[in-house]
Amino acid sequence: MDVALKIDVDTHQGLGEGMPRLQEMLQACGVTASVYIAMGPDNSGRAILRLFRNPGFLAKMRRTRALSMYGLRTALSGTLLPARPIAAAFPEVIRGLLSAGFEVGIHGYDHVRWQDRLDRLGAEGICTEIAKACEVYRTITGLAPTSFAAPGWRTNDAAGLALEELHLAYRSDTRGRSPYRCVIGGRILATPEIPTTLPTLDEVMGTPELAAAGSVARFYLDRIRSDALNVHTIHAETEGMGQLDNFRILVEALRDHGACFVQLREVAARLRVDDLPAMPIVRATLPGRAGWISAQSGA
Ligand SMILES: [Zn+2]
Repeated sequence: MDVALKIDVDTHQGLGEGMPRLQEMLQACGVTASVYIAMGPDNSGRAILRLFRNPGFLAKMRRTRALSMYGLRTALSGTLLPARPIAAAFPEVIRGLLSAGFEVGIHGYDHVRWQDRLDRLGAEGICTEIAKACEVYRTITGLAPTSFAAPGWRTNDAAGLALEELHLAYRSDTRGRSPYRCVIGGRILATPEIPTTLPTLDEVMGTPELAAAGSVARFYLDRIRSDALNVHTIHAETEGMGQLDNFRILVEALRDHGACFVQLREVAARLRVDDLPAMPIVRATLPGRAGWISAQSGA
């Protein structure tokens, strides 16, 4: 039972407060993870403004307690208050993750711009976002990036082709069942895609399914596959903050059930890329998540 924990860090507060708590808790459990950090400015206030225009906004805010989860400073970042840098504000947190054996990859540059405007950025705008993220990553770590996880699980052909030029070990941009190779315009990309396989906690919070399971740990244990790779995405802003206790109970339960915690770079290193199925990425919607996401076709 292989479980890869994929930690997305979307905000200044997530990296400064949530990530150190997650790191400490995971290390106490003898576990490491793969961490993907938005390298540019924290414009989450704009994302929250965008949610206001969404019909399901109030219900989602209540269900996920987004304001208490994110805090007012983050909710206003990039709108009434200036956008704070994310990675550049906490280089010591990033270097601390690396020296503790965690994997650190790129979660875009401006998370909100990528998630809200990906198709409108055009190939040039997308290349600029990727190049700026790589530059920050190199400056902080002294390393070349080897992985990319798309903000909001949103990708398109231009992004796939731009990332292919970086010769990454893998991408983790989509939702799906198992690793595959992306097909764009008849071309099979060499960079394997390792999708997130489980629903995220913010998608299932407040649902009848979670209530029926009785606990977060039980909900996920019921959905973990023993015969395949499980990739579980968590957020520094959620599992690293208000949901830390629930997440610790889940990690302990997985460990007690014999889970083998792996990093995505280890998964990628074991893949026989030529044998992976080749398929296009499609757009889909998920219960509990606003708007579209990119998914493995047939997932
Ligand atoms: Zn994200």
